[in-house]
Amino acid sequence: MKTWFLDQPKQMRMVDEPPTQLTGKLVKVKIEQQLLTNSLFDIYLGNSVREYPFVMARNAVGVVSEVPEGVSMLTKMDRVAIEPYIPCDNCDECRSGNHSDCSDIVELGQNSDGLLRNFVDLPYTILHHIPDNLSNEKALFVSYVSFCLNIVDALKLEKGKHVAVFASTKTGLILAQLIAYYQAVPIFCSNEEVLVAEARKMGILYCINTEEVDVAKEIKIVTGGRMCKELVFFSDSDFRIKDVYDSAAQNATVCLAGYSNKDSRMTVAQICQKHLKIIGVYNGYGNFSSAINLLVTNKVNVDRLIGEVVPFEKLDQVLAETTSEELKLKSKVIKVD
Ligand SMILES: [Zn+2]
Repeated sequence: MKTWFLDQPKQMRMVDEPPTQLTGKLVKVKIEQQLLTNSLFDIYLGNSVREYPFVMARNAVGVVSEVPEGVSMLTKMDRVAIEPYIPCDNCDECRSGNHSDCSDIVELGQNSDGLLRNFVDLPYTILHHIPDNLSNEKALFVSYVSFCLNIVDALKLEKGKHVAVFASTKTGLILAQLIAYYQAVPIFCSNEEVLVAEARKMGILYCINTEEVDVAKEIKIVTGGRMCKELVFFSDSDFRIKDVYDSAAQNATVCLAGYSNKDSRMTVAQICQKHLKIIGVYNGYGNFSSAINLLVTNKVNVDRLIGEVVPFEKLDQVLAETTSEELKLKSKVIKVD
């Protein structure tokens, strides 16, 4: 059983241990691929505070290698996507069935050790069968689609309504596709030209490079002066929340998506003066099956977000040679032998 540990920023160490014995309702999964994303790379660089050693990676697919009888409908060799969220099942939110708001949720590769291993024992509840017509590479993006579905659910979209999406990462591209699929009109705003250009290629009608133009002015033109009633701000974005504020209509809903160490400020006075409603969506828990379906039917296309394949065994070398710049549009696929 091989595991890559991050001992301190930029310092990887592989440990090879004897296989574990399955206990309780756990299922043994042989990991086939993991996703090397910018958020994983940020952790590698030490840009987020955590305790070391740490096992990175939260996006992974694999095959069932061992399943005790009666534990799950899954059988040996089934391909599975791993949902990286494990609610505590004990807090008030969990007890009332609202698991995505769990106050003590375990997020693999984020607040708990992740999936950078060749074998892992996991609860059957977080394993989702991958249909034959969905490739492993696409299935690696299930948690992103699931996260964006939770945002869409929180927003209550309406046909023809403009929704501004402020994003510095490719998750914004997935959300823009979903908003268009549900027949609302996404306005994709990013400070990264590579993402703005990609959004145009994907057929998103309104794409704004926030470095080049006055966003609020552009949104005023697009919306005929009405501005946006629904806005999404990815909290790991690299631009000012003032742009989001200026683009919001009176009584707008601003969705803060994800969580990051980056700090942005909007004052209570600003929120009150525009009667803004602020909501948060922090994870992709609970929408995995729908997300798989959207990928299978190509309602969300992630083909152009899939980058080069790199070997698990040489990940220390790969990471040392990787740059944030090259991960902006495409994530690398880590292949485990
Ligand atoms: Zn809970």
